[in-house]
Amino acid sequence: RAKDLGRNGFQFYSADMNNRMRERLYLEQSLRNAISRHELSLWYQPKLDLSSNTIRSTEALIRWHHPQLGVISPADFIPIAEDTGLILPIGAWIIEDATRQISEWRDKEDQNIRVAINISAHQFGHQRLSEQIIQALESLQLPPRLLTLEVTETALMTHMEAAVRQLQALRDIGVCVALDDFGTGYSSLTYLKHFPIDVLKIDRSFVADIAHDTESGAIVRTIITLAHSLNMTVVAEGVETQAQLAFLKENGCDEIQGYLFCKPLPAGDFLEFLRHHR
Ligand code: C2E
Ligand code: MG
Ligand code: MG
Ligand code: MG
Repeated sequence: RAKDLGRNGFQFYSADMNNRMRERLYLEQSLRNAISRHELSLWYQPKLDLSSNTIRSTEALIRWHHPQLGVISPADFIPIAEDTGLILPIGAWIIEDATRQISEWRDKEDQNIRVAINISAHQFGHQRLSEQIIQALESLQLPPRLLTLEVTETALMTHMEAAVRQLQALRDIGVCVALDDFGTGYSSLTYLKHFPIDVLKIDRSFVADIAHDTESGAIVRTIITLAHSLNMTVVAEGVETQAQLAFLKENGCDEIQGYLFCKPLPAGDFLEFLRHHR
């Protein structure tokens, strides 16, 4: 502990704290202006449908292009956005931009591409999330089934009642719900029964060693069976090797996502990838 380190230790500790606080404050300040300065963008990572070998859907992943610091990963700024409440305007921007993109691709392509967006826990605490999404879909006259919401078990738990109510309302009109990072949260099977869920996304920590580690392999196989018996589809995230892909194919996984197939791409590059893949 800092106190036990004596005078010098304490000075070092507080200087370090000070730097981190300043850095954090700086990020917070610039994040406040990121939307109006057009520094945020959605990148798209395709999901490969294993039975047809086609791309039917993609996940939108946010990127922040900071004018001084370059590209900042969502892992570094989404927590700040959540702590400061900035996740509400940023979340609203994500909904708006993703639906605009779905609509644009619909006009350009003869095939509809489905888009998944990630939703933070705090957005469920906000009454208007479902209204916001319904309004965005309606104003662009989009079929709701083209939109998927990816939520983590932890996010569902944070505002359980509000989350279930809003997800149910959205699912009633056709929006899909995917449980993200499945297996890393509470993973109580009760939730699978009570939450309105269409898709399980197997967390990449399980996928990482399915080819070598019998426990991970058994877990992944069990998740696939579980999902199918509950009439859900399964997506494996973080697929990086041919051996992982082979395992997932053999065990009936529906879709895969990962660097092996494609990294997240800017919207324009994604469309090119899609056309090339056909
Ligand atoms: P996630 O939703 O589980 O997204 C998957 C993450 O894994 C993405 O990182 C993706 O780029 C990365 N990934 C994909 N394939 C591979 C692979 O083969 N290997 C490895 N090692 N990684 C892979 P990213 O884009 O940095 O996003 C990290 C997390 O930040 C996301 O996890 C999600 O929780 C959050 N996030 C991203 N975009 C948004 C957003 O628009 N809104 C919210 N609320 N959260 C977001
Ligand atoms: Mg996700
Ligand atoms: Mg995930
Ligand atoms: Mg994950």
